[in-house]
Amino acid sequence: MGGLLKRGSIPHALLFTGMDGVGKRTVALRFAMACNCQAPSDGDGRGAADGFSFCGDCSACRKIRAGSHPDIHLTRPAAVAIRIDQIRALRGQLAMKPYDARYRFAIIADAHTMNAEAANALLKVLEEPPDRTILVLTAVQASDLLPTIVSRCQPVRFHPIPRNTLAAYLETHANLSSEAATVRAALANGSFARARDADLAGWMPRRRWLIRQTEALSSASSVAMLAFAEKLAKDKPRLGDALEILKLWFRDLLIWRHDPERIINSDLADRIGPAARLETSAGLLAKIENIGAAQRAIEGNVNSRLAMEVLVRRLAGLG
Ligand SMILES: [Zn+2]
Repeated sequence: MGGLLKRGSIPHALLFTGMDGVGKRTVALRFAMACNCQAPSDGDGRGAADGFSFCGDCSACRKIRAGSHPDIHLTRPAAVAIRIDQIRALRGQLAMKPYDARYRFAIIADAHTMNAEAANALLKVLEEPPDRTILVLTAVQASDLLPTIVSRCQPVRFHPIPRNTLAAYLETHANLSSEAATVRAALANGSFARARDADLAGWMPRRRWLIRQTEALSSASSVAMLAFAEKLAKDKPRLGDALEILKLWFRDLLIWRHDPERIINSDLADRIGPAARLETSAGLLAKIENIGAAQRAIEGNVNSRLAMEVLVRRLAGLG
């Protein structure tokens, strides 16, 4: 990334792609700081990871960090989508001269949420880029955007953050034991935001509860199954996390047969063996796939109560 600056030819538009929580917006802001810092220095190590150097203390750096710099425009979805009037407002601002920035930035976060109207309005900006202005679009994948937009941006791909990096972060900053940090890092699936924002105090007892409930499903009454499904669905903020916990549990049962050293819930090793003996590999793969289907259904806005009822029945070996 830092090479973009050193070569002296900064592209007008960049497209950052990668899963949620890998730092796309953070890097865009660091890029803006590196372009506008009044006292950039290479020696303090702050720019080490991505090659950007900036002081972090001058008025430009501080305003950018606080989100109050008049030349750094951040557009993100209002509710679920970026609307045309947001892009029109941005175009209005970009039509004027920058206030005091060397490089003005327009960051369009989750650009894939633009509808066709909004995307076409943005395309006009990309076709005639304003002076001293850098556009940064972020999206999960380029194929979610109009090809005409993608072709006008220089692509930069962000990779998932390695599990051991996340685990080391959680051990140091969240004060987790090494075992807990390993499980938590695996649940975050490469997303720094997911690792950091998880319910770090409450998830260990919750994981035990989830696993106990799931183990009991094979002999549970339909009333008990419905109650479990309802409890899962009602706790919407932690539903995604609950499904990741269950997926990781079944993954461990599957792996335990062939490679017990590689299980991730290592603090529950004494329960994994007996639980794995009750399952077949095909059955475990089907359960993992069923959880994936439930995750996709919820992302597609299927009623979560219904999705959980279907999932619980499948995990119980019915339907
Ligand atoms: Zn600075």
